[in-house]
Parts: sequence; C-alpha cells; structure tokens
Amino acid sequence: MLLQNKKIAIVGGGPGGLTLARLLQLKGANVKVYERDENRNVRLQGATLDLHYGSGLKAIEAAGLTEAFKANYRPDNDRYRVVDEKGNVLHDDHDKVSTGDFGDEFFRPEIDRGPLRDILIDALQPDTIVWDSHIVSLEEKENGWEIIFKNGNTATVDLIIGADGANSKIRPFVTPIKPFYSGVTYLVCNIPDSEKNAPKLHNLTKGGKISAMADSKTLFLSAKGDGSLDFYIGWKATANWATESGIDFKNNKEILEWFKKEFANWDTMWLELFDYDETEFVVRPLHGMPLDQYWETNPNITLLGDAAHLLPPNGEGVNSAMLDALYLSENLTNGKFTDVKSAIEDYEKQMFERFAAEGKETAEMMDWMYSPDGLKIMVELFQQMPN
Ligand SMILES: Cc1cc2nc3c(=O)[nH]c(=O)nc-3n(C[C@H](O)[C@H](O)[C@H](O)COP(=O)(O)OP(=O)(O)OC[C@H]3O[C@@H](n4cnc5c(N)ncnc54)[C@H](O)[C@@H]3O)c2cc1C
Repeated sequence: MLLQNKKIAIVGGGPGGLTLARLLQLKGANVKVYERDENRNVRLQGATLDLHYGSGLKAIEAAGLTEAFKANYRPDNDRYRVVDEKGNVLHDDHDKVSTGDFGDEFFRPEIDRGPLRDILIDALQPDTIVWDSHIVSLEEKENGWEIIFKNGNTATVDLIIGADGANSKIRPFVTPIKPFYSGVTYLVCNIPDSEKNAPKLHNLTKGGKISAMADSKTLFLSAKGDGSLDFYIGWKATANWATESGIDFKNNKEILEWFKKEFANWDTMWLELFDYDETEFVVRPLHGMPLDQYWETNPNITLLGDAAHLLPPNGEGVNSAMLDALYLSENLTNGKFTDVKSAIEDYEKQMFERFAAEGKETAEMMDWMYSPDGLKIMVELFQQMPN
C-alpha cells in the first residue's frame, strides 16, 4: 500500500477530516488528527445538516457508520417553511406526507452537527485525535513536514491533509490563491430552550426550518435536537461591516437597534430573536474561492473540504468535504496509483471539477437569493421539489 510506514497528519477535526481519518484507519493507515479545540466538548456545534445520497451518506456508508447515523438522525427535521417578512407562510413541508427513506436518491436526512461529529470521533481508534493542537505553521523537511503548534509542540510527518476549514493555515503551503468576500454577511447565533426564550418563533419553526426572505435579505431558523434554535441573519454588507458599524457585539440592545433599522419592513415578531439576553452573536462575512482555481500537485500535502474549496453556505459544504474524504482515501489505498503524488493529483483533478460546477450554482443562488425576487424564486423551487 502507498501509505505503508507513512505517518499521516490530518489537520482539523471537522466532518471532512474525521471522515478521512476513519476511512484511512479502516485500510490500516497510521493517522493522527490534529485539532485546535482543547477537547471534544469545548465548543457548541452548529445547526442541523442534511446529508446527501451521492456524497455525505455515501461516505457514511463507506465508513461503516450507517447504523450509527440512523440512530442519531432527526426524522422530519428536514421540513421547511418559507415565509415572507410578515411571517406569512408561502410554502409548508409540514403539510406533506414524508415518503423518502435511506437508499432513495432524494432522501436527505438531517442530523445535528454535534452528533455527527460524535459518531465520527467514536469510530476512531483511541488517541487518534490530538486535541489542543492549534497549528500555526509548517516547515518542509526532506520527504516530509514538521508541524508547529501554538502550544510549542511539534510533530514530524510524511503526509499532510489540510482539513482545517475556511481560514486554513495549511492552504498557503499548497497555493497562494486566497478566498474572496462574497458581498453577503451572516449574523449567526443560537437561542437555548427556544420554547421558553423565543416561543413565537419556536412555534413558527415547528421543529424544522424556516427560510424568511424579503428586501434582498434572508433570515434562516433551524430547530436543533437540544431544544435550541439556530438563526442566521443574511444581508448585503461591506467586507468590514463589523468594524464599520461601530456596534458592540457584546451588547444585544445595540444589535437589536441595528436590526430594527436594517430590517425596518419586517414584522415585530422577529424582534423576539433578541429577547434572550445571553445570546452570543457571531459576525460571519461569507467567502468563496475562485471557481477556476488550480494548483500543481504536491507529493506530500493536499487539502480537503472548506480549506480546499470554500463557498458561501449552499447546503453542500459538509457533503462535499465528506466526499473529498471518500475519494482521497480511495485513491490512497486502492492500489491503482504508483505513488502518493499521482493518487493526490487524480483526487485534486476531480475535486477542482466538482468545485467549479458547484461554485457556479452557488454564485447563481447567491444572486437570486439576495435580489428582490428571492422569496418568489425560493417558493417556486420548493414547490418543484419531489416529496
Ligand atoms: C453559517 C453556516 C451555515 C452552514 N450550513 C451548512 C449546512 O446546512 N449544510 C452543509 O452541508 N454545510 C453548511 N455549511 C458549510 C459547512 O459548515 C462547511 O462546508 C463544513 O463544515 C466544512 O467541513 P470541513 O471539515 O472542511 O471544515 P470545518 O467544519 O470548518 O472543520 C475544520 C476543523 O479544523 C479545526 N481547525 C481550524 N484551524 C485549525 C488549526 N490552525 N489547527 C488545528 N485545527 C484547526 C477547526 O477547529 C475545525 O474543527 C455552513 C457554513 C456556515 C458558515
């Protein structure tokens, strides 16, 4: 096998990195995952995700984790309501009879990010993940790399896979191509116990998801299994809006005042999002990478997931990261390539092609979603979908 006697470092324990670690371990590879979080519980994991037949679910199956997934997914959490700025419901999946099941092409089961991460972590051999390993730099060595961590530790390895997300520290060692700002910013947060802390919006969400759109702006709500509600407020903003706005993001009253002005036509029911004093808001300017990006393959370092091909949220990000993991692990272990470089080169070639196609669709989606016709197009799309 190409990976015989090789030390492999996967940088980043997100869905992409963890899936790759599991798939490589199934083939007997010597893998460590270096993750900056201090431990598995240190960070609140984000909203629910739907996994897709030809990508996320395919990787789960190859990882031998379909039963674990079935035990943790959230049936009916995939039910959407599309509403206007006044809360009028224009499309409602709750009226539908659910017919999909595992094995159907259009079945997209939802799982919270935390349980998905737990399934993947629990499937790894003990001590595969080296927590508290915030990578700050790399040094090239003969036939390998030295990894330098913020805590002063170092590790010497033969092969690095950068799965460290949007602000990857590994990416500059692979390509100088940088992400660019999409023109849209999200304000992201989570309200615990939404039944108590945001009851009207909790009831509107009905345990599923809400897409609210008007005035070239969006508001997405998503009910999580722990009883909390994630929400993302999206609008067109300058790249440095967070500093230029002068808002103190620790002061929810200031954010509320901004919302009242920026979303002036929206119903007062949305103001409930700001009632819970302890909500922490995170500003996320959405970035993407050039659709024609390309780099010469390196023999002992590559990227996957957001580190390789970041896009504004399009419902595919986790699925693409897991599909990268599947293709890369197959190429490195299926015996069809004579050396690691050719295995990586073939993986990167199809990864660039997939990204160009997905990125084009995402750019089109961002254009209509943040246009005056966004709501109308969203409703039409939902109505064309199979049950
Ligand atoms: C608001 C929002 C909503 C989204 N909604 C969806 C959705 O509904 N469906 C979907 O499929 N996708 C969604 N996405 C996209 C999705 O989150 C990403 O595409 C996906 O998480 C990428 O997986 P990854 O494994 O490549 O990276 P990540 O999930 O970003 O994981 C990277 C890991 O690397 C670690 N790390 C980072 N830097 C370092 C370092 N220097 N040293 C060590 N470790 C490091 C991080 O702690 C993290 O654990 C959304 C994104 C956003 C911003």
